[in-house]
Amino acid sequence: KLSKRLQTVASYIGQDAVLADIGSDHAYLPAHLALRGRIRRGIAGEVAKGPYDSAVTTIRETGLDGKVEARLADGLEAIREEDGVDTISIAGMGGPLIASILEKRKNRLKGVRRLVLQPNIHAVAIRSWAMTNGWHITEEDIFEEDGKIYEVLVLERGTSVYDDSELRFGPILSKRQPPAFRKKWAHEAASLQKILEQMKVATPSAEREAKERELKRSLDQIMEV
Ligand code: SAM
Repeated sequence: KLSKRLQTVASYIGQDAVLADIGSDHAYLPAHLALRGRIRRGIAGEVAKGPYDSAVTTIRETGLDGKVEARLADGLEAIREEDGVDTISIAGMGGPLIASILEKRKNRLKGVRRLVLQPNIHAVAIRSWAMTNGWHITEEDIFEEDGKIYEVLVLERGTSVYDDSELRFGPILSKRQPPAFRKKWAHEAASLQKILEQMKVATPSAEREAKERELKRSLDQIMEV
């Protein structure tokens, strides 16, 4: 059974998509979708040999040969033009790594209409990438599993302009503010407050004051939202 995290990612993959799941590890996501007739075809891209071997095993054991294919490749190099990939998923990595994978081989995104991205941290990197590369955020989700909070971002082609606050908190999430969103940012605010408290007793210096101002700004931005 798929984790709640991957089930949430799966729920944003359109019916009959041709999917490339980059950094697929065991290929659980494409295998799950293919077994349920949710995708036409799937590619499980992996840069590391061990996870690639796991993907090959999952595909063989679930009888999905011909439907899902594992490829050993760096990021979007797993995709070829003739694949006709229209959806890409990248899950379980930090936002900056996801953004760098998208940035590195942008030409492979030709024909891709939807990106379903699940950053473990720093979703801001993905929103900035979207804004500067002709994508916009059509859906955002946030949820908790095993005490960890995860975000899912869905991108489609289109222009977008996000201000600093929208980049950090998410244009959709900051409007809806579901419980997991409030929990995440309350937690973040509390740890910033704690650091600021500790800084008060540290020896004063220009460097410390600059850092303090920066943290204070960061905390104020959370409080505003
Ligand atoms: N996507 C799965 C999930 O969400 O459960 C697996 C996540 S796992 C933490 C991250 C995987 O991404 C690892 O198997 C790693 O080898 C792979 N990875 C990291 N950088 C990659 C890259 N540039 N191209 C392809 N795979 C990559």
